[in-house]
Amino acid sequence: MLQSLSPAQKLQLCQAVEYALEIPEISVRVKQLYEEIQQQVKLKNPRCDRSGRCCRFEEYGHRLFVTTVELAAFFGHAKSGLFSTPRTINEGCPYQVDRLCTVHSYRPFGCRIFFCDPTATDWQQEQYEHFHLQLKQIHTDFNVPYMYVEWRQALRALFNR
Ligand code: SF4
Repeated sequence: MLQSLSPAQKLQLCQAVEYALEIPEISVRVKQLYEEIQQQVKLKNPRCDRSGRCCRFEEYGHRLFVTTVELAAFFGHAKSGLFSTPRTINEGCPYQVDRLCTVHSYRPFGCRIFFCDPTATDWQQEQYEHFHLQLKQIHTDFNVPYMYVEWRQALRALFNR
């Protein structure tokens, strides 16, 4: 069971995301990084059974964490009306519907790099660290407070759910 964000942490996160939203280059950099990740994953060609289990966090036994700049990019798309805000946030990812991701083009880094294919374990960790460092660098480059927050906690804070 994850500890909820305190009101102070929620405020800090919302302020950091709002700040990042004011800088359009951040969204561009995040998008470029996602494209690079996509290329690397394509080279590795991991198996995906499309069971959707990895998005049902409790069932799978893992959690998705996101950074401030990713949240800003995602929240910016939501504000533009590219997808709707979740009505409820309970077990699993609120964006999974009928085993499919309804925000596939905008999904965070963790969703792009994780595959349950057991042969992917070795390179996943290495690539995660590599790209996570690049995400951190975006924070540094634009003076955005770096936060690393569980996905649903972040969504709750940003969407006030
Ligand atoms: S954003 Fe999409 S891929 Fe990521 S956990 Fe949610 S439903 Fe799954």
